[in-house]
Amino acid sequence: MNKCVFLDRDGVLNVERGDYTWLVDDFKIIDGVPEAIGKLKNAGFLIVVVTNQSGISQGIYTRAQMQACHDKLMKNTRFLIDRIYYCPYHPSVTASLARKPGTLMIEKAVAKFNIDLQQSWMVGDRPRDIECGQKMGLKTIMIADKAQDGCMPDHYAANLLQAVEEIIL
Ligand SMILES: [Mg+2]
Repeated sequence: MNKCVFLDRDGVLNVERGDYTWLVDDFKIIDGVPEAIGKLKNAGFLIVVVTNQSGISQGIYTRAQMQACHDKLMKNTRFLIDRIYYCPYHPSVTASLARKPGTLMIEKAVAKFNIDLQQSWMVGDRPRDIECGQKMGLKTIMIADKAQDGCMPDHYAANLLQAVEEIIL
């Protein structure tokens, strides 16, 4: 079986703008992310991104625009990301078990890549990321500068590079 680090996208890999990000020029990779991903790969982890992209179902942007951002992400991380799962649905349009804190994106990855959940992690910057990871029995790291109410990740980290130091002891 394989071990995996699941990563949220905005606020973990690219800069959280406080709004939807769908233009390539707005999609800025956070410093240290390529290095962090390289370290995880060297340590034998699969890298799977799980991202809520409800702006698609709300008509704010298109799949093609999202894909252009993901192409930039893949290129800037030397194509080391194994898979990007996204959930295009918004609860006001269509309910989806994939939308975090729902777990269907993780469950799909587990089936496809034969992932051992006990050796795997979720890194995110929102309570819904941590909740999703905890529902699946993943160890969790929250990228945040302070604790958030009602959310109890296993660790906090300032950024992905620091999170990787917790994962690779
Ligand atoms: Mg986020």
